Amino acid sequence: MKIEKFKNKIWLSTPTMHGDELEYIKQAYETNWMSTVGENINEVEKQISDFVGCKYSVALSSGTAALHLCVKLAGERLYGMPKPNEGALKGHKVFCSDMTFDATVNPVAYENGEAVFIDTEYDTWNMDPEALEKAFEVYPDVRLVVIAHLYGTPAKIDEIRAVCKRHNALLIEDAAESLGATYKGRQTGAFGDYNAISFNGNKIITGSSGGMFLTDSREDAEKVRKWSTQSREAAPWYQHEEIGYNYRMSNVIAGVVRGQIPHLKEHIAQKKAIYERYKEGFKDLPVTMNPISPDSEPNFWLSCLIINPEAMCRQVRGDSDVAYIKEPGKTCPTEILETLSWYNAEGRPIWKPMHLQPIYRMNAFITKDGNGRANSNAYIAGDKPTDVGADIFQRGLCLPSDNKMSEEEQAAVIEIVKKCFE
Ligand SMILES: *Cc1c(COP(=O)(O)O)cnc(C)c1O
Repeated sequence: MKIEKFKNKIWLSTPTMHGDELEYIKQAYETNWMSTVGENINEVEKQISDFVGCKYSVALSSGTAALHLCVKLAGERLYGMPKPNEGALKGHKVFCSDMTFDATVNPVAYENGEAVFIDTEYDTWNMDPEALEKAFEVYPDVRLVVIAHLYGTPAKIDEIRAVCKRHNALLIEDAAESLGATYKGRQTGAFGDYNAISFNGNKIITGSSGGMFLTDSREDAEKVRKWSTQSREAAPWYQHEEIGYNYRMSNVIAGVVRGQIPHLKEHIAQKKAIYERYKEGFKDLPVTMNPISPDSEPNFWLSCLIINPEAMCRQVRGDSDVAYIKEPGKTCPTEILETLSWYNAEGRPIWKPMHLQPIYRMNAFITKDGNGRANSNAYIAGDKPTDVGADIFQRGLCLPSDNKMSEEEQAAVIEIVKKCFE
């Protein structure tokens, strides 16, 4: 089969608009509710709360803002209100997912806390509950855990919640990538004490940007709403007792989100079909798709694969460059990504684990065998790795997963990937 370069680029994941979005934007414009108050915001808050199954929600400017306020709130509930020039987590450690986007963990640093990274497990590519239990043995005073559901696949939520409960810790769920994914029949974003979702441009539905805070506590939701609008007190003038933020969602953005919500299920079905076609297309290759656990139904946001160890050619990654040695019958993520790019298709490496990031090199990292930081940079192909995140990063990649990619285009992508194994 002769494959041509794609005339139109095949993207990783882009916004998919349907028309209703424009109507709600227009409504905001025509009624002049162009700021951070209006019907679109109210509707989006109500609809997402109902859908996710969390009692209260606050629409915000981004998922990162939502995570920041989750973390700040948890810090205040645990340790009391900080001084204006101190973070709510000052002097405290927080257990965080390791293989994730940095927006999951940066808010801990915004509040002067110290992230301790917990290794990943192979069953869901999320935080390993056994490693989390180990972490509580090492740092018994920790009271806060932040988990992400990578690529739309729910983590082992029951196990993680049980560990949190045993150690009296609060849980924050970063459901930015997993809106619409369920675990034992319940939506992600409803399991943590405080939860965040994102409407960024490449997520399963989008507002072009935006995010949301979710909780079952009315008092906490009101607090976040207040913080997000500069912490104004009820007074005739601008009266402030707490530090404030300008984090509220705009009613125009909310119009886009409102128009997207009815299409969430359809987007998930399209992404699932993409995943299934890759799975079928790669069934004879020495690769495995990103995992699905029997307890959950992912939203299939991104399709990923991991190359079996015996089919990996040598690949060495530095801080910003990479080299590999081609071998017959073997390949590596770099070769696949470069080849896709040559054909005008966009893939992406797996999120580089946080404990391998220069900015977090001094932070602790805990694996389930308790080895952690000491050997975290020492992945050797063929060895049984104890650093699961580093191993998945080394062998895995995200495939073009745009729901506007045609079946013919995807068939060509599959052929391109197959060629790399020749
Ligand atoms: C996208 C994303 C975020 C941040 O959301 P923004 O709306 O872009 O700020 C946080 N965590 C994860 C895992 C994400 O993928």
